[in-house]
Amino acid sequence: MKSFGYAAQDKSSPLAPFNFDRREPRPDDVVVAIDYSGICHSDIHQVRDEWGGSIYPMVPGHEIVGRVIAVGDKVEKFNVGDLAGVGVTVQTCMVCENCLAGEEPYCTKGMVGTYNAKDYDGNVTYGGYANNIVAPEHYVYSISPKLNLAAVAPLLCAGITTYSPLHHWKAGKNKKVGVVGLGGLGHMALKFSHSFEAYTVQFTTSESKINDALKLGADEVVISKDAEHMAKHTGTFDLIIDCVSAPHDINAYINLLRLDGTMCLVGLPDQPASISPFSIITNRRSFSGSMIGGMKQTQEMLDYCAEKNIVADIELIGYDRLPEAYERVVKGDVKYRFVLDNKTLKS
Ligand code: NAP
Ligand code: ZN
Repeated sequence: MKSFGYAAQDKSSPLAPFNFDRREPRPDDVVVAIDYSGICHSDIHQVRDEWGGSIYPMVPGHEIVGRVIAVGDKVEKFNVGDLAGVGVTVQTCMVCENCLAGEEPYCTKGMVGTYNAKDYDGNVTYGGYANNIVAPEHYVYSISPKLNLAAVAPLLCAGITTYSPLHHWKAGKNKKVGVVGLGGLGHMALKFSHSFEAYTVQFTTSESKINDALKLGADEVVISKDAEHMAKHTGTFDLIIDCVSAPHDINAYINLLRLDGTMCLVGLPDQPASISPFSIITNRRSFSGSMIGGMKQTQEMLDYCAEKNIVADIELIGYDRLPEAYERVVKGDVKYRFVLDNKTLKS
């Protein structure tokens, strides 16, 4: 199937228009004409090969929304014309215990990413900075027409990646939750934690974001560079979700956990983190991580957002502004997710 979009040809050139082929749809496939695609910091890490092993040419994008334009014979949930979304995962083995438990990102065979990955058939996957995408029905989500479609796109990665650990560690009433970093993931973590009625503290390095954090649902905002302010929270948090994209001092946050509290990393800096044994044994603390979320939970999150009217705060841009958007994301200067408008995508 013919496709076109924007690709990185190597780790340093700007993304440029690119014509490519996707597989012909199979009986269980859905073809989505993409309307909007979010820009995740993971796109930048991978385009710039910061994690190693990047495959070029690379069409990034795993926060994808649009309309169904074709369905295979075996597709049951979708019809042509339906709104649909595709996230970070487009294939898993479906038979291992993790897949059977609805935890597909932890598939023991290895989940296939929406881009920069090899599918089980050996073909490289291409993501959402493009006019269309093909994916098996199991990895395609229903989107409510009630929500602003462009602002739904970031829910497919930033949304589920924060919703999932908040659920897992039972963020809710009488729990104190910290969110580190007010970017794409951080602002969704903040919205969800607030919506789950946890007492939510936003940590940020940016004084300019204090008012926004309060408006987005923070009960308190802490400037993480202020050691005195940080120390006031020592030993009080049930859960801290760390959404930071660059190396930083993890122990400063671990020290804020109460007895049996958990620090969960979702951010993926390109350097290993160092943990002080004294920080972690004190209060029997746990240090953990979480990767996106299962397919069933992603649909549940989207339905929850439709019910509660939750979407991302976005800056909608054209493809001509991709280089500027990448620079601003790296500087922590986005309010709070860039989304590409496919009306500006020309073959
Ligand atoms: P983002 O929009 O760039 O947000 C990152 C935030 O981190 C910034 O807004 C900034 O917040 C803070 N920050 C940046 N540099 C910092 C530094 N040097 N020191 C301290 N704080 C800093 O990124 P994102 O799209 O939300 O993604 C965040 C991370 O999650 C990325 O590494 C991405 O690859 C990863 N990710 C993981 C998963 C998963 O499944 N686990 C899924 C998606 C993304 P303040 O200005 O508030 O300090
Ligand atoms: Zn992402």
